[in-house]
Amino acid sequence: MNNRMTKVMVGAPGLYTYGAMRIGGVIRDAGFHPTITRDITKLSGDKVFLSLYSTLHLLDSALKDTVQKIKQEGGTVIVGGPVSSGPEMIMGELSPDLIVCGEGEEAVSCIMSGQEISECPNCAYVEDEKLIVTRQQRSEEFVCPLPLIPDDIGSQDIRGAQTYIETHRGCFGRCGFCQVPRVFGRRIRSRELDEILREVKAFHKKGVKRIALIGGTGSLYRSKDGEVNSSAFIGLLEGISSIMGPKNVSCPDIRADCITDEVLEAVHANTIGWIFFGVESGSENILKAMQKGIPLDTVRDAVERCRQFGVRPAGSFITGYPGESEEDFIATKDLMEELSLDDVFISIAEPIPKTPLADVVCGMNPEDDLVSTPHSGEYAALHLTEAEARAFDLMLHADMCRPVPRMTQDAQYKVYLEETRKQGTDIRNVTKLIRQYYSGG
Ligand code: SF4
Repeated sequence: MNNRMTKVMVGAPGLYTYGAMRIGGVIRDAGFHPTITRDITKLSGDKVFLSLYSTLHLLDSALKDTVQKIKQEGGTVIVGGPVSSGPEMIMGELSPDLIVCGEGEEAVSCIMSGQEISECPNCAYVEDEKLIVTRQQRSEEFVCPLPLIPDDIGSQDIRGAQTYIETHRGCFGRCGFCQVPRVFGRRIRSRELDEILREVKAFHKKGVKRIALIGGTGSLYRSKDGEVNSSAFIGLLEGISSIMGPKNVSCPDIRADCITDEVLEAVHANTIGWIFFGVESGSENILKAMQKGIPLDTVRDAVERCRQFGVRPAGSFITGYPGESEEDFIATKDLMEELSLDDVFISIAEPIPKTPLADVVCGMNPEDDLVSTPHSGEYAALHLTEAEARAFDLMLHADMCRPVPRMTQDAQYKVYLEETRKQGTDIRNVTKLIRQYYSGG
């Protein structure tokens, strides 16, 4: 069968993820005519690439049925994306033909050129009932094809943007809950500016109105050894905003220790003017357990400087981290009050396979896991677990800590309660799965 006759599809559940579009571009540049979908029930073909971004996808019965249907029809299913750091789990739960682990461009190019899978990098497959993982590598050159952009990309909404784009890979941080340094490494590898701008133009032409920059390390574009390269970052933002318009660019996530006056001026002039800092906790003990590596005074200073430059500071917090005591939690509430951020994200600590957090969670007694321990305090009547109660309390508290405090109305109270219950249930399911595959391993 020639390339033109081979039916190839790429899909991600519910979203056109940047990773799925990138892999679609690799397949197209290998001479095929792939199509892309966010409706997994539409997936079929000779080769089907599934990009999965949440461990929860592995528990999705509709997804399991889709994989089996494609295989029964004679197709080959290849799974990749952020979940691929746990290939044993993917194979055990979904039984695809092949897994692309880690960076996918070279692996997919190799697969599509018909090479022996054992010769392709970053792949995993089962042979003689054993999981074989091929050589793992990160591409040095980091040259990316234009993504495969669907015609209806303009209808997508991810936190206000239609798509995220990748400008560089890696993070010099060591945060124990994060897979970025484990998958992409601690050294920053940056794309050429021309190539990024060509991609931005292509997205704009297809109807994308707002673009966001991927990752927790926005200002590390072209940085070396953790030193911010302000001029490269300014050039990046100016280039993107000259195509999209400054009010249609967002660079949401920047480390609190990676801002300079020039970075803040550029964010103010060329983006929607917000920065989300990964604050995580107000307790130095918990920050140490997380290996966050950013002192609280640095966070305080970053928030203050944002305001001086007209940038609105926001922050994300994690609660329920192993070992978080009542005092640690109170310290987080106190910090939230002190910072008075313009917006806040709260999440319960979620173990991601192969991260230090997952190792800690797998090694601890399940009864000590705050996401499972029943809460007996202020919210006992709501039948929450301790981590859920803390997340719920932080959400209510955040409303009161805004620069203009907001009374939480009944409808919003219910939204917060549902959100914390969902997070708790999802994380318990994910934790159970990870323990099943990696405990004692
Ligand atoms: S700073 Fe952000 S991207 Fe880097 S390791 Fe920590 S959470 Fe991950």
